Amino acid sequence: MTRRMKRVVVSSGLREADIRPPALLSEFKRLSVQDALEFFGDPAQLVEVNCPACDSPDTRVVFTKNEFFYRCCSVCRSVFVSPRPTSDALANYYANSRASRFRVQHYSRDTAKARRYHLLTSHAEWMGQIYDEAGNPEARGYADLNTCSPEIFDEIGAQHIFQPLLTVDPLLDPTGVCETAVQVVRRDTLAGMGAISAFEKVEHQFSPAAYLQSVGGALADGGLFFFTTRTISGFDLQILWGKTPYIFVPEHLNLLSVEGIALLVERCGFELIELSTPGQLDLELVRHAAKNDPSIKLPPFIAYLLENRDQEAHWDLQEYLQKHRLSSHVRVVIKKLQKTEVATHE
Ligand SMILES: [Zn+2]
Repeated sequence: MTRRMKRVVVSSGLREADIRPPALLSEFKRLSVQDALEFFGDPAQLVEVNCPACDSPDTRVVFTKNEFFYRCCSVCRSVFVSPRPTSDALANYYANSRASRFRVQHYSRDTAKARRYHLLTSHAEWMGQIYDEAGNPEARGYADLNTCSPEIFDEIGAQHIFQPLLTVDPLLDPTGVCETAVQVVRRDTLAGMGAISAFEKVEHQFSPAAYLQSVGGALADGGLFFFTTRTISGFDLQILWGKTPYIFVPEHLNLLSVEGIALLVERCGFELIELSTPGQLDLELVRHAAKNDPSIKLPPFIAYLLENRDQEAHWDLQEYLQKHRLSSHVRVVIKKLQKTEVATHE
């Protein structure tokens, strides 16, 4: 891990229900699980992969979900689906599944207000600040990949740091949603960007390494890639493991560990600028999952802590998880190395 790397602790009174209303999430999950069987149900069409973080072939099955196998890497402890659908099958799924349509029609729109207040403002501040500290001042273009919450562009636009603002193959078109001018562009036309973001996308890529390399191709030298994803190193996933109710195929093919993310970034020719887990919901998620699923048996200490200690104790633990990168919501900033820098690393 790099010396300059940042860790961040935040608190904003975020509640799980504000971002992911239970009724919407459960319908989205129900459709996803059904569609996954329909689109990817034929085992002959699935392909085996090495660890998507460190490329090790040394892996073993640790749990199954809806007939898909989740494997754990012996080297970096990332957890991932293998065999998995091919990139083409995934592209077809995202273009044509009912779950995808549902996400666009309900999920993103209905939760936009809570998201904007809690997440988008802090995402925009985060990106602006890191760009000021570590970005390439010559490259000021910003692009968001497969935009789900177009309101991010109003938050970014208000900072007057990036210009132009681009959305690449958006899930929700910013036209009519944003007040800020945003160009809709295709992925293959993107080049020379100062900053690119992808929120909750890495977990469902067929190959996170190919994804990072393609982002690298669209960045200027010294350009920054900002992404958020779920990490298996987080408290709630470690406690709930195969019983985690909000992990499913194909949304969560890659649950990379904190160590795995660092290895992935390095082998794709980037420098790690920040890898932090500012998640605020691990304890609440564990509590909800255990309440709704009697088959989940929490470790006695966790059950005792949840039942017999107050909010303050729970928040102290959550803060500890953030500080030591043990929450499952991870955010990462990586910087594209100049060609000469890549050469010296080889
Ligand atoms: Zn690995």
